[in-house]
Amino acid sequence: MTVDVAANGKEGQKTRVSRSVCVIGAGAAGLVALKELREEGHQVTAFEQNEDIGGVWKYDPDTDDDPLGIREDRKKVHSSMYASLRTNLPREIMSFAAYPFVPSGEPGRDDRRFCSHQEVQAYLRDYARHFDLHRHIRFGTQVLRVSRLPEKTNQYGSVQQPLWEVVTRTASSSENWACDTTEFDAVVVCNGHYSQPKLATIEGIASWPGRQLHSHNYRTPGPFAGQTVVLIGAFASGEDISRELAEHCSEVYLSARSWKDEPRQTPPNLHRKLVVTRAYPDGSLEFADGSRVVADVIIHCTGYVYEFSFLESGLVSTEDQRVHPVYEQVFHVGTAPTLSFIGLPFKVSPLPMFELTTRWVAQCLSGRAVLPSEAAMHKWIDGFYEGLKAGGVPVRYTHEMSRTGFDYLARLCEWTGTPMFESWREDLFKDFSYRRHNYPANYRDEWPEDLELKRKVIWEDLRKE
Ligand code: FAD
Repeated sequence: MTVDVAANGKEGQKTRVSRSVCVIGAGAAGLVALKELREEGHQVTAFEQNEDIGGVWKYDPDTDDDPLGIREDRKKVHSSMYASLRTNLPREIMSFAAYPFVPSGEPGRDDRRFCSHQEVQAYLRDYARHFDLHRHIRFGTQVLRVSRLPEKTNQYGSVQQPLWEVVTRTASSSENWACDTTEFDAVVVCNGHYSQPKLATIEGIASWPGRQLHSHNYRTPGPFAGQTVVLIGAFASGEDISRELAEHCSEVYLSARSWKDEPRQTPPNLHRKLVVTRAYPDGSLEFADGSRVVADVIIHCTGYVYEFSFLESGLVSTEDQRVHPVYEQVFHVGTAPTLSFIGLPFKVSPLPMFELTTRWVAQCLSGRAVLPSEAAMHKWIDGFYEGLKAGGVPVRYTHEMSRTGFDYLARLCEWTGTPMFESWREDLFKDFSYRRHNYPANYRDEWPEDLELKRKVIWEDLRKE
């Protein structure tokens, strides 16, 4: 840890601390963490288990060798992208503010508003190159363990850094692994949360003779041609994969806990059902309305679980999808600001949120921003959980932010001294959420005149920045 005197716009001269920071992962969150931490004056190192940046956007035609993702010793593939995936948000609201995601116009690039996964990966590559981030990333290096070092005090009685020990392993050849231990002042966890499958529980499934997989391991429709497929879960992946399969399969059943209404544009062989309640040895599956179908395949589109197996045990719990104890979706209460999590919230626009949360972390580590006391953070958590309970929000939606996301971003802007988000971002998020639900077949390619006008103005403005 080093201490610098740096100018602070609002408060004049102030001591700013430069810390050594470990970033786990070089997906979108890890990349922006490197940029924001470095700009705040910290020394950064990212460990990335894969050989490339991009995280989930680095498409991998390979899959886990356990299609349900249960076996702990399975060969694991990080990305959950399927070959045909296009974004479910328009590019202008996916974009980092510091590097607009506007069409490049270059040959071989995908300039569509809702682009392919390859284009998002290309954008992240451009971003990393533009901010010269590669030199801070150790590729092919997996973080195995993160633990607190015993606190040391100096002669003046204050706690000395570093606080964290990070054990990594690097593949020196396909069979030999070299382990390394490094000490850091702080750790920023950017390991993503779309890789460890969560499965539906179905009575009788053990003796059901069909094939099962999780959407994490779905890539293309070819292997399911002519079959009857039941998908469980109708969020973005369930909806998209069911439509793709309907073009190749004999019948497709998309099941969900509830349906608000029947979306338009549903192909005749795509049927909407309530959840699967029971599986039978004759191959049939029963739905909550009592109806049954004989199916060949179940695809669990049931989401993912948070996974921090590398963290010293007892630091956080993840029971029922609640990462606890975490202050304002970012800081671990007890070690804040030196342990933080980027990207816990879902149903938000992730990249802008990563940008603001990593800025907040960087400022809290340097001392430019100040967190409340530990007791106050615990109190905040208690109040937050009580509010969720009073509002009837299930524990598993602790990090769901479809209705609260933009208020959260506004708070982050305030805390970090960032100019407030333009209102068009929230408007577009709402407009396209509505269109995604009501026009699932073509919301990515067709929109009304007012949204087209907005697109032209926004892209024009972003290009000028
Ligand atoms: P990731 O991209 O998962 O990156 C985490 C990185 O950490 C990976 O590179 C991984 O290899 C590395 N890592 C993990 N553990 C370790 C370890 N122990 N040691 C070293 N490295 C490690 N968002 C949108 O904005 N628009 C969309 O349209 C959209 N569509 C999506 C579709 C799908 C199918 C999925 C799964 C997600 C989608 N998202 C979308 C959300 C997407 O996850 C975020 O946009 C974002 O890219 C997540 O970035 P991340 O860095 O948090 O995680």
